[in-house]
Amino acid sequence: MEWMIWLDFSMFLVLLGLFFYVFASSSVTVLHRIYLLLHIVFMIWPLTQFISQTASSNSYKLFYLTVSYIDLSLLGIGWFVFIVFLTGQSYVIRKSRLFVLSMPALASVAAAAINPNGLFISIGEQADSMKQLQHGPLYWIMIAQLLLYMIVSVAIMAHRLRTDVSDRQRTLIRTAMTGMFTLLLFSIADLCINVLVIDYLGRYIPLVSVGMAFAAVYLVHAIGRNKVFDIIQTVQRDVMNTMSMGIIVLDENDTIIEVNKVIKPVIRLRIGDKFNSSVIASHFKGETARELAAFFEAQRQRPNERLEFELTLDLDRYRHVIVQSAPILNHKKTPVGRVITFQDVTELRLLVEATNSQNEQLQDRNRDLLLMQDELFQANKKLEQMAITDGLTGCYNRRYLLQKLEQEVVANIRYGIPFSIFLFDLDYFKSINDKYGHLIGDEVLCSTADVVRRTLRLTDVLARYGGEEFTVYLPHTNREQADLMAEMVMEAVERNEVNTGAGEQSLSVTISMGVISIEHFEPAALDDPKAFLRELLSQADAALYEAKYSGRNRIVKRKLA
Ligand code: GH3
Ligand code: MG
Ligand code: MG
Repeated sequence: MEWMIWLDFSMFLVLLGLFFYVFASSSVTVLHRIYLLLHIVFMIWPLTQFISQTASSNSYKLFYLTVSYIDLSLLGIGWFVFIVFLTGQSYVIRKSRLFVLSMPALASVAAAAINPNGLFISIGEQADSMKQLQHGPLYWIMIAQLLLYMIVSVAIMAHRLRTDVSDRQRTLIRTAMTGMFTLLLFSIADLCINVLVIDYLGRYIPLVSVGMAFAAVYLVHAIGRNKVFDIIQTVQRDVMNTMSMGIIVLDENDTIIEVNKVIKPVIRLRIGDKFNSSVIASHFKGETARELAAFFEAQRQRPNERLEFELTLDLDRYRHVIVQSAPILNHKKTPVGRVITFQDVTELRLLVEATNSQNEQLQDRNRDLLLMQDELFQANKKLEQMAITDGLTGCYNRRYLLQKLEQEVVANIRYGIPFSIFLFDLDYFKSINDKYGHLIGDEVLCSTADVVRRTLRLTDVLARYGGEEFTVYLPHTNREQADLMAEMVMEAVERNEVNTGAGEQSLSVTISMGVISIEHFEPAALDDPKAFLRELLSQADAALYEAKYSGRNRIVKRKLA
């Protein structure tokens, strides 16, 4: 047996070792998987070559050779896909294009597998095993197909190098190019030696296997040095460690596979250890430990749900932490692990509390303002009342009466509504003041005003016109009704007795009254209502004067002149 064939097997072992090394040392990204597929292609070749060399029967030999050529047929497309992903142009391989792109490779695979009439390879009957192998035209088409993929790969890389790429990308592409040329060199050498000049050489030298192993060792080394596959993992770890949130990642068996920096000083956890609720709860006391244990128990019972609760920790000061536990689902939506996060929301809570207390203060202030508003309203009402009433008697004052009359007179004239006015004055009032004093005089004034108001109707308006002189406005009152009312007022005042003080006798007063009723209306009065009103009042005054002059305690009626 040729010792050279063992080279094939040892190359397979080298490739297998590398395969496991790559698999174990880096996290699996898409680029990873693609490299590993390429690596498998690398691995199958020397293995099947080795087995075919050691096979005793020709049919076995042919079978393993066929497998190795099927594998070799895939080398070009494998390399091409790896380059496309390496250069960040994965968009080239869309589902719709995939079939077209893989056509040459698939055709080669079919050709090698079917090997029609030995057009791919055949094994002759020569005694010399090295010269037995005959390569047909389909074999050469496979070589052309491989070269085609290689050329396209080189074109892609060259194109990529010309565009504006980062230094890291540039290094990657150069690495891939070097790997590829190494492989190409060995392949061409293999072709020359084992296919073209094997008749002269007389021995088989597995140069493709050596080339593949060299390329793989080189690529794996470069990948390791340039951390191609670790970049994403590094970024993820950086992100995890720079965030303020504590993160624990568990696999499906609750083994801790990642703990970020935030967690480390608070909870002692070791990657690879089994995680259970007591591990965490043991770091806390009393109520907190109980709450945490209950939370993780709930999560254990409902593993497919995302659970959340807020924890209050009494550390350097009160800390509010939101603990969340959520399943990690794979693309088939089955849980493959769990992520537990701890988020400190103390600042947020403080902010919310501050806002709440500010809101409360604002509400208090609003309430005070409303109370003040109400007080102001009441005071205003009082002021308004005071502005229109007479302080001593509680009747309306002169100002109010004149205002009221001004409005009423206009409306009465316009709509022909009869109305009347009384003007009365207490008789000999000066002598009451003189005899009983001013206080009793005031008493008499008030008492008289009260009795008049009680005699009048609700709609009549009694006003103190000045001193001991009063005016009454009687709306909707004609002469007849006014006379009746006037008589009633006179009588009521006369009957009214005012107490003059302790032991003293009570006294009564009389009044003199001028009455004026308006039943006929001159529209011309509307031209100047104020003048009309003045005229009315002076007529009433004249009537009162006449009543006084003609002996007092009487009524004098006047028509409007
Ligand atoms: P006459 O019958 O002519 O009206 O006689 P009289 O005494 O009432 O005379 P006159 O109307 O001129 O006098 C008014 C008096 O009323 C003068 C004033 O002292 C008094 N008087 C005016 N206002 C008040 C008041 O608010 N309280 C008191 N106690 N007296 C007042
Ligand atoms: Mg008087
Ligand atoms: Mg008077």
